[in-house]
Amino acid sequence: MTEPVPRLITGDVVGQVDATVVPRYAGPATFARLPRLDEVDRADAVVLGVPFDSGVSYRPGARFGPAHIRESSRLLRPYNPAVQAAPFAAHQVADAGDLAVNPFSIEEAITDIERGARALLERASFVLTLGGDHTIALPMLRALAAVHGPLAVVHFDAHLDTWDTYFGAAYTHGTPFRRAAEEGLLDRTGCLHLGIRGPLYSDSDLAQDSELGFQVVSAPDVEHLGVAGMVDRIARRVGDRPVYVSVDIDVLDPAHAPGTGTPEAGGLSSRELLATLRSLCQLHLIGADIVEVAPAYDHAQITGIAAAHVGYELLSALAAGKAAS
Ligand code: MN
Ligand code: MN
Repeated sequence: MTEPVPRLITGDVVGQVDATVVPRYAGPATFARLPRLDEVDRADAVVLGVPFDSGVSYRPGARFGPAHIRESSRLLRPYNPAVQAAPFAAHQVADAGDLAVNPFSIEEAITDIERGARALLERASFVLTLGGDHTIALPMLRALAAVHGPLAVVHFDAHLDTWDTYFGAAYTHGTPFRRAAEEGLLDRTGCLHLGIRGPLYSDSDLAQDSELGFQVVSAPDVEHLGVAGMVDRIARRVGDRPVYVSVDIDVLDPAHAPGTGTPEAGGLSSRELLATLRSLCQLHLIGADIVEVAPAYDHAQITGIAAAHVGYELLSALAAGKAAS
């Protein structure tokens, strides 16, 4: 394209490509067709891709997650009526592109991700990370805890991700929250998992998880708690602490998100997850991730679209929360 791309402008905020001029299936493949970070003077929130999946224990492929989520986000429109917010007009959001990290050394990749996140946090106060497998949550928590101190974590996942080691490896997609707790990155009075289900190794998994500071709202609990009950449990656990929201897309039922590495039957619907995320506008959000989207197992962008909407609701909650405070 030789002409500048026409964009929605609100005051000094540069928004999405104008879909009345450039059709949604054309134009740049940034998240929600937002400007790249190098196209704006400043940013309040950035979307960062981390295409890394060397920490997976079952199906690989989440390294292709960032590109798939971006491609699935073309239809996101400027105004979110559910929270009465325009997430890309209320403040400057930009796409920071992908971090290039070593696929052959998990330790080096974690170091690179932390370094990249720290550099971005010099420029923007909020980072939404598109994974990648769940290993990437650890370096993001390191970078954010360096700014805010120990963090509350609201973790949506079928799995606890507080296991110790796997095949002797300490850094995998099943261990980030144990490592984070051990490193003092978590406020152990402010963390919870939601959507946990499926078989464990033993009941001691849950006891150890509890010692690390997590409460559990299981997927069977959601059956009777409903969205309102989940929202209440989150609000009571987190309070006004700075909070990191980590969304493993496998928290959704495989019917709602087939494109993921370790699917478990009996999960949340996308409607339940999106409604719960919307409520997070009450919280002090400082960062979030969407991980484990593996497009090779996706069909008709079902998982990619769900992940794109997860990102949209998180950014909407951030915008709505800022407007209210
Ligand atoms: Mn999981
Ligand atoms: Mn996970």
